[in-house]
Amino acid sequence: MCGVFFFVKPDCFRRRLLGLLVVGVLAGQLPAATAEKIPGQSYFDAARYVEYVAGDLPIVLTAPHGGRLKPDAIPNRTQGVTDMDANTQELARALTAALHARTGRHAHLVASHLHRSKLDPNREIEEAAQGDPLAQKAWRDFHAAIQGALAAAVARHGFAFLIDLHGHAHPIARLELGYALDAKQLNRDDPAFDASGVMQLGTLRDLHARLGGSAAVLLRGPGSLGDLFASRGLRATPSPQEPQPGNHPFFAGGYIVRQHAAGDTPKVDGLQIECPRPGVRDTPENRARFAQITAEVLMVFLKERYAFDLTARR
Ligand SMILES: [Zn+2]
Repeated sequence: MCGVFFFVKPDCFRRRLLGLLVVGVLAGQLPAATAEKIPGQSYFDAARYVEYVAGDLPIVLTAPHGGRLKPDAIPNRTQGVTDMDANTQELARALTAALHARTGRHAHLVASHLHRSKLDPNREIEEAAQGDPLAQKAWRDFHAAIQGALAAAVARHGFAFLIDLHGHAHPIARLELGYALDAKQLNRDDPAFDASGVMQLGTLRDLHARLGGSAAVLLRGPGSLGDLFASRGLRATPSPQEPQPGNHPFFAGGYIVRQHAAGDTPKVDGLQIECPRPGVRDTPENRARFAQITAEVLMVFLKERYAFDLTARR
């Protein structure tokens, strides 16, 4: 983690800082270098544009498009998509709450509080910040927070699983599971998909390298994430029920999962989950239902594929 993040409660922060100063002086280190993050606690950059909730699970959630802040100090972006993904930050918090209720532990969460018209953290920095220094700093803080969270998860558990949460408005109200593989790649049948070798480019590369076998089965066969979602009542593609996006609009996974989880990112796997609004993002009840199902899906998937029991103490 970069040292720019502040403890959320000023009083606690001051007390903690005093203690760290004493420790830091004794140890000959700066306080920031000794600061240990507390699971479940929120930390912010100085401008409070980026929030990092520390975790002790191997799961790292990101919500880049759910922010609502529109500070005058940052000019509006003039290129690219500027609409927010409504309620995705709330969706991410519902998921952390559901995971905590089931496991007693916390997922890491990185959320952008800036509206997408000011910053798009799911793009490379030029399109994301469009030259504004404050937006560029928020972009760097956002990605440093992801890197810090992934590094903490790998150090503690030996692996990390990144989930980047979004919202789509495509005609079919189903989850679009983005493994950094597009519709053209996914529309191949299983033998052609396996022969293509594109799993090497995707966000489950490390998992597939470890388990071997058919990449297509791992991605959309029995026991795949799509299968676990669909069998619990949430439509998803790719899955055994809807193995290929076909000609329908499909989000394959953007900058965040490609940068932090796809290809050569040792010990980090994950995916982008694009959520429809009706039935998933629209009401607190539906967000809670999505969160309950997703927490259960992750518990099953991480246990079966990573031999990781989310409820075990470690
Ligand atoms: Zn989005």
